[in-house]
Amino acid sequence: MEDIIDEIMRLKKERNAIILAHVYQPEEIQEIADFTGDSYGLSRQAAETDADVIVFAGVRFMAETANILSPDKITLLPAADAGCQMFTDAIEGQVRQAKIDNPHALIVSYVNTPASVKAMSDICCTSSNAAAVVDSLPKDKEVIFVPDRNLASWAEEQCNRTLLKWQGGCPIHGMLTVTDIRMAKIKYPNALVLMHPECRAEVRELADYVGSTSGIIKYAEKSEATEFIIATEEGVLYELSERCPNKQFHLASRRLLCTNMKKTTLEKVRDALKTLEPRVIVPDEIRERSAAALEKMLAIKG
Ligand code: SF4
Repeated sequence: MEDIIDEIMRLKKERNAIILAHVYQPEEIQEIADFTGDSYGLSRQAAETDADVIVFAGVRFMAETANILSPDKITLLPAADAGCQMFTDAIEGQVRQAKIDNPHALIVSYVNTPASVKAMSDICCTSSNAAAVVDSLPKDKEVIFVPDRNLASWAEEQCNRTLLKWQGGCPIHGMLTVTDIRMAKIKYPNALVLMHPECRAEVRELADYVGSTSGIIKYAEKSEATEFIIATEEGVLYELSERCPNKQFHLASRRLLCTNMKKTTLEKVRDALKTLEPRVIVPDEIRERSAAALEKMLAIKG
């Protein structure tokens, strides 16, 4: 393993590359990354980097976002088949029809959507700034929130506003149940429950804190509590234990594992740096329109 890491480091220097890794990535990938974070944080890094090559250890929508925000860089997705179910929950034709059916409504699209959907949106959001994005829109306008119904319902609660909710969602967070949390609380009675807003509303009611993965990490760091039940994808446990070595973290359910996020391997990162493939390139006409929605999102703090 050390040989391959040395090779990655050498190639990274030669290519003037940067490795961005989502906190749901395998531990060994997070270890070699220049930056780890959630979708919001990594989008910012992609927009601001002066590297020539961005290696995105994540899933396709993230690499697309990086390419939209930094079109002059080469964007590599080492795990070319790493997708996200939400990517196909709202496709271009369906969103076009929703616009026809609701001609005065604004479209907020979660960053997990394809570039073609972002291109039709008024603004994008991540789980870090979904509520702030919704709050920034005129109160007299209808808003269609695409595609995660759970994140939309959380934004509704935060903003005290009704949204037209698409019926998509993350299958990993969406499968967490009230029973999972009750069982975890029985097992770890002193632990606080930190939960991602992609979980269902009735499950979120049992949480002590609801927020994005970066929000969960910050909360755990600042909290005086020393034990936590973590209700998001298991990869975040690595960052939590790095930042808070004296605190205890328990995953709310062993089912909180996204197989797409685990498709990146050290070999694939090395090969991508060697060959500069597989690349993600968003066509110009889509990129220009989707960049506007993403840049508006980045202007709203996560
Ligand atoms: S955890 Fe959910 S939202 Fe994230 S990539 Fe996996 S399926 Fe998509």
